[in-house]
Amino acid sequence: MTVADRFMSRRTRGGADYSGRVIRRPVAEHRAAVGAHLAGIRRTEKVPVAVTLGRVTARPVHAPYSLPLFDNSAMDGFAVRASEVRPGVVLPVSGRVFAGDAAPESLPAGSATAIMTGAPLPRGADAVVPVEQTVETDGRVRFESSPEPGAFVRSAGDDVRAGARVVDARVTLTPRHLGALAASGVAAVEVIRRPTVAVISTGSELIRPGCEPSGGQIFESNSLVLTSLAAEHGAQVVYVAAARDDGDFDTILTAACLDADLVLTSGGISMGEREPVRQTLGEYGWFGPTAMQPGGPQGLALWHGTPVICFPGNPVSVIVSFEVLLRDHLRELAGLPPIPCGRARLGRDVTSVRGKTQFLRGVLGDDESPGVPVVEPIGGPGSHLAVTAAAADLLIEIDADVTHAAAGTEVTTWPLT
Ligand code: AMP
Ligand code: MG
Repeated sequence: MTVADRFMSRRTRGGADYSGRVIRRPVAEHRAAVGAHLAGIRRTEKVPVAVTLGRVTARPVHAPYSLPLFDNSAMDGFAVRASEVRPGVVLPVSGRVFAGDAAPESLPAGSATAIMTGAPLPRGADAVVPVEQTVETDGRVRFESSPEPGAFVRSAGDDVRAGARVVDARVTLTPRHLGALAASGVAAVEVIRRPTVAVISTGSELIRPGCEPSGGQIFESNSLVLTSLAAEHGAQVVYVAAARDDGDFDTILTAACLDADLVLTSGGISMGEREPVRQTLGEYGWFGPTAMQPGGPQGLALWHGTPVICFPGNPVSVIVSFEVLLRDHLRELAGLPPIPCGRARLGRDVTSVRGKTQFLRGVLGDDESPGVPVVEPIGGPGSHLAVTAAAADLLIEIDADVTHAAAGTEVTTWPLT
């Protein structure tokens, strides 16, 4: 039994106490329940290095081999014993070694081996003289310089020793890291998994943008909001569907659970007569009012073991629900840091309903002086005002016990994605 199951078995019926008073679950409590609901999702996976760009390592990666793998030449030239070479010395050329050749047995004393960049150094040689500082004729080479021991030799293990750390845990992999991993001979890496998400919109009134609306129909927009938010915060969207209120929600939900770690639904959880999400999932989780506005009705359930998070249908409620209740939990699963809240001063007076945490949409003022910025609340309380909400920079949180906040009051703000 997961924490979420235990949590829910105590509280399966959210809604009213024995005297019929509405009990609203506080926002922080529901937010914690959403986090607990995701606790069983697998967090890491091993994937080929070739597909790890931008992924976050789950654990440190250690070098299986020392690098370079063997002593080799940094230049095209001649492998020599440094002590035998100075300007004017002529030595016989004892052989030629190319990149990809096995290391020659050894360098005979008093000779030089022609060597190409990356070719293994013959045993006994301790320096390479670049070809530009030599003249080769008739199987003999004349030197124009005196090499130091070690000159132009890339020694085994001077980049990394076998067993040493190539990349730390929690590193977002860049092209450089991919190069280091491949160079080290690492073929696959344990990375943080991107949780797979399915999105189901519900509502018999919904039609696709581009269709001509007839009576009672509206354009479906929540699925685009939720799929793009989920992707933005580290998830892979694997399934998107829309269900009618009088039809096949459970069939669609079952299909969604095939590939998804997590299903997000919108709509269908209020008190109406056709609420397919609540009617299908009510006995498998918690549904009830939260002390949040917009986004009051919320639900959490398990369907065939897959967590389902149920948001209300109003477009602004969907945005607020995702940002406040789910965003940082999803980021955590995906190995991304949380997005911190900020502080701002209200640009005008606002009123609020006692007992509900209000999330108003706000735009930041253009006053760039240091200190707490000013935020202007925009739009009305209606949670259908999708176009107005698009202009907002952030959500303004008004505490549940506040009914009036004067201009200048400091408030918590939630950056919008
Ligand atoms: P519901 O929560 O199902 O009662 O829906 C609340 C309101 O949101 C209704 O006016 C719906 O028409 C609207 N709505 C529900 N789902 C969507 C959606 N996917 N896209 C746009 N509006 C929606
Ligand atoms: Mg509906």
